[in-house]
Amino acid sequence: MTDNLEQKALITIFGGTGDLANRKLYPSLYHLFSKGYLKKNFAVIGTARREWSNDFFRDKVKESIQDIATSSAEADEFASHFYYQSHDVTNKESYVSLKTLSDSLDQKYDLAGNRIFYLAMAPNFFGIIASRIKSEGFVDTKGFHRLIIEKPFGHDLESAKELNDSLREAFHEDEIYRIDHYLGKEMIQNISVIRFANSIIESLWNNRYIDNIQVTLSETLGVEDRGRYYDESGALRDMVQNHILQIVSLLAMEPPIKLSTKEIRHEKVRALRSLRVYEGEEVLKNFIRGQYSAGHAFGKELKGYREEDNVNPESNTETFVAAKLLIDNFRWTGVPFYIRTGKRLAGKATQIAIRFKDVPMNLFSGDMAALGGNVLVIHIQPNEGITLHLNVKKPGQGMETMPVNLNYAHSSPDGMNTPEAYEKLILDCLRGDATYFSHWDEVSLSWNFIDHVADVWKGTDTHFPNYKPGTMGPDEADELLTKDGFSWFKVHEEE
Ligand code: NAD
Repeated sequence: MTDNLEQKALITIFGGTGDLANRKLYPSLYHLFSKGYLKKNFAVIGTARREWSNDFFRDKVKESIQDIATSSAEADEFASHFYYQSHDVTNKESYVSLKTLSDSLDQKYDLAGNRIFYLAMAPNFFGIIASRIKSEGFVDTKGFHRLIIEKPFGHDLESAKELNDSLREAFHEDEIYRIDHYLGKEMIQNISVIRFANSIIESLWNNRYIDNIQVTLSETLGVEDRGRYYDESGALRDMVQNHILQIVSLLAMEPPIKLSTKEIRHEKVRALRSLRVYEGEEVLKNFIRGQYSAGHAFGKELKGYREEDNVNPESNTETFVAAKLLIDNFRWTGVPFYIRTGKRLAGKATQIAIRFKDVPMNLFSGDMAALGGNVLVIHIQPNEGITLHLNVKKPGQGMETMPVNLNYAHSSPDGMNTPEAYEKLILDCLRGDATYFSHWDEVSLSWNFIDHVADVWKGTDTHFPNYKPGTMGPDEADELLTKDGFSWFKVHEEE
């Protein structure tokens, strides 16, 4: 490891006893430590209301990394940089001791006043924490000050604006890092490379050659222990507003003039501005919602969504969304972007399929159906890689064709070879690179689009539940494509 890899900072995690901190943040920080990005000059403060000692906290941190730590000596060394501060974020006085600890760690570890504040807490606390960070002088140091915010960023455009205004009182836009962990995934970051580093791809990346694009984010799990949050949110807000629209903007954007944060964001914003905002009947025609019923799948009997813990037994919250998005610009007019996401679906996968147009006539059998379509599939998770579906000659006599797949698998199916999204994103934040975080302009455009859908849905009846666990959602999701003469590209064998 060379010294210039090393990043200097105090990282304060609000919600340091929570699920996100334990499952994602501490393991990610450990990976950065073991790779030499964090070394001597870093310290982490975990805060939450509970009264914990530093030793108890360090034991918890070590527990969270026990499966990945290379030795107990290294785990001890890593955990020795962790400090715990009991702290109620709503209580102004608590910030005094937190500030004293922050300043002393700054000195002890020679952190140059660099501070990252990670808000791993319920979003209703984001505004108050940001304003106290400012008012209590946490950002009066010489170094950089960056705020990492977890999703959800608001519940609609209005609440997102309110939240943003409160954050902006304390932080500049370029100091706010809004996490969308999908943007930290290896193959999402690869979209730009696949497009802009391959002339055979980018030259075909338009409505002359592409028939349709499909984005699928499917989960087999139900709502698990997130019933309270999810019932207020639903798939539209939980998945489409952020992850899916971010992916669509990366697929649809024009090539940036440079691979800088500013230029990429500019192009993503332009793509989102070209997204056709549906009104009234158009919403019902182009957006399909679903909710899973009870049923037998994956070898067991499963509860319906309405029977899940902390879910209203008459809930009309959607656990599935499929939609046809249209992008009104020169490049994409006429190319539908179909998206779908849901819980309790046939398999767990995130995949993008780019379906190219058929050849103008089939010379080989006189039967167009005998030729498979050319499809470029980008596998995001759990597999990472790309597959290109082509037609070749069947070996032997005659000119019969057969489909072949050119495969590039990026890593083993468990994804162990690639860094976790959180690891990449925390390192980006330490380095001040906000490319794979959402800018306010993107967030606000996405909410505006989603609000139009949510408003129409609110005023119309649902017929929930309308899909069985272990399927790919309601029949209407298939009809959305068949009426255009298309079908969903298979994501799972079960489909
Ligand atoms: P959690 O409920 O497990 O943790 C919340 C933390 O906040 C706990 O440490 C708790 O002690 C602390 N806390 C609550 N009230 C407090 C107060 N008044 N003062 C100080 N501390 C207080 O939640 P989580 O699952 O870790 O999620 C945290 C945030 O991350 C949420 O915004 C969530 O939406 C988001 N998120 C979580 C995950 C995940 O995998 N858990 C994934 C994506 C986004």
